[in-house]
Amino acid sequence: MWERCGKGGNRWWRPDFSGPHKRLLLFVSHKKISEECALAYRRNIFISTSIYEKHLRKRKAVTRVVCEPLGTTLQVLSHSLKVNRLLEQAILLPIGNPTRKEKESMASPAPAKFRIDVDIHNLLMNSSSSGPVPAAVTGATLPEPVFPQYPELLSDPGPVDIPQKRDWTYPQVWRKVRGWLLPYMRSRIMPGEFHPITAYLFLDYKCNLDCWYCWAFDNKVKGMTEDVARRSIDWLHDHGCRVLALMGGEPLLRPQVAHKVVYYAAKKGFWVYVGTNGRLLRPEVADRLGDAGVAIFNYALDAWDEKPSLPKALVPGQKNLEYLIRKQYVYGYMVFLNINICRNNHEDVRKLTEYAHAHRLATDYHINETPMLEQDEHFKHFNENPTYIRPEDWRSVDELIDWIIEKNRAGYQMVNSVQRLQEMKAFVRMSSGLDLKKYGWYGDGTGTNGNIAAMLAQTPGIAQDANGELHFTDWNCRAGQNNVIIRTDGTVAPCFPMYPSTFDWGNIDHAKFDQQQLKAMKRTCERHCFSTLNHNLGYCYNDARVIKWVWTQAVTNRMKGGARSFED
Ligand code: SF4
Ligand code: SF4
Repeated sequence: MWERCGKGGNRWWRPDFSGPHKRLLLFVSHKKISEECALAYRRNIFISTSIYEKHLRKRKAVTRVVCEPLGTTLQVLSHSLKVNRLLEQAILLPIGNPTRKEKESMASPAPAKFRIDVDIHNLLMNSSSSGPVPAAVTGATLPEPVFPQYPELLSDPGPVDIPQKRDWTYPQVWRKVRGWLLPYMRSRIMPGEFHPITAYLFLDYKCNLDCWYCWAFDNKVKGMTEDVARRSIDWLHDHGCRVLALMGGEPLLRPQVAHKVVYYAAKKGFWVYVGTNGRLLRPEVADRLGDAGVAIFNYALDAWDEKPSLPKALVPGQKNLEYLIRKQYVYGYMVFLNINICRNNHEDVRKLTEYAHAHRLATDYHINETPMLEQDEHFKHFNENPTYIRPEDWRSVDELIDWIIEKNRAGYQMVNSVQRLQEMKAFVRMSSGLDLKKYGWYGDGTGTNGNIAAMLAQTPGIAQDANGELHFTDWNCRAGQNNVIIRTDGTVAPCFPMYPSTFDWGNIDHAKFDQQQLKAMKRTCERHCFSTLNHNLGYCYNDARVIKWVWTQAVTNRMKGGARSFED
């Protein structure tokens, strides 16, 4: 299992990586650490460090590196900036090219540049030479917010102990009804197909962090002007929309602009949602947005503490988050944690789930995805991305999802239904584009033949064509009908996965959603898409389900409780 390498004072142990080890201990000198880590990284082995301080002080540094297969998380016993930097370099700059033998032994194929079928991809990315035209410049501005509107709330620190249940006031219940129910009813009654219920407003496409899986930010793109923001809100209002989600990038990069947008939209009757990584959500920003009338914070976290590739972590922003949690009982907004399941954060997901439960927050889970459409050079981490789930992780992802389902059934508040969580197992396999007959249900060659048919039959949301291709069952996507995104320049698209598309759906001055084009497109993209929002919209765009949900909220729950799945 171990091979001793080197001479004299520069010795190290090289573990035999070829076996099915659950845990490896690797002792290396600093000189060698980058090389060994690069090798381990290429072999899909997760790396963490603990330092023997006395060795560091007395002799040349000796580091104990604990390696495990990816998907399990390690405890870092102590930190050394120097070693962490070396590890980061090792991940960023793997040394040399793998040998032919190493290449052959690599279990993971390179991710596909896009997931959608080639024809539809070409149509969406190359269909228009000039692309959609940005919204006109009119010089409109947003009104200066009055702050504080509610001085008594500003000085209220919130409860010391977190209440067991949320008690909603009538104005807060009305805000929800006005935001969701009335636009739904309007869209059922009014003629035509374009009746947005939810809208994503991309205030900024820049971000203060760099999550390696994320292609949804570009630090070269200018932020939305007040002119476009104001006219977008007016345009949505005229179309009956009353749910506005501020998105990015990081929508709080310019907190004064975010404050103005929330204030203006809330005054026009919008139910306003802010998706954020939380780092800039300092108490004074939380107070301004709460006072202006924000309805919900989607607080995105992937890790307990920062690690290379996953900077959206709880520890660096914990004080801000705990202030935000307390003040939700004062201002009447809601907070939930948005967690992306990657290959290198499974233990973090468990810790964040327990943290959310202890603080009475709902959680919303996503499965890390490679891009639906091909990205340009702004996306830097496509290759060698340690967050991408690979076939050898499927078993571990299944275990994590089963653990989350168990918690869901035990009463933990979750935005995802049990069915939706189960569908994630289908999605990780399907989105890989790999042949299950070769890779097996568990990605390691096991669980093939008869097992695949049995596993497919048990896994909701997945179907297999006569030619063996796996895809989602049709799911009534409502993008471009009841969902719309507005880019920073005022151009529009049906949904978030289509943000990079050059197809011309117009702008806020002249939107041109062609229902025939959308229908044809969705016949393909629905089969590759795991958009949580649009799945939820598609599921609940149904009168019987809406009536059942209203009944459950009003009669069974008596307007108490927090965010839950529409399906539960
Ligand atoms: S914080 Fe959000 S927008 Fe920024 S890099 Fe991470 S996922 Fe992307
Ligand atoms: S299925 Fe719907 S949400 Fe997904 S990419 Fe297609 S249009 Fe967008």
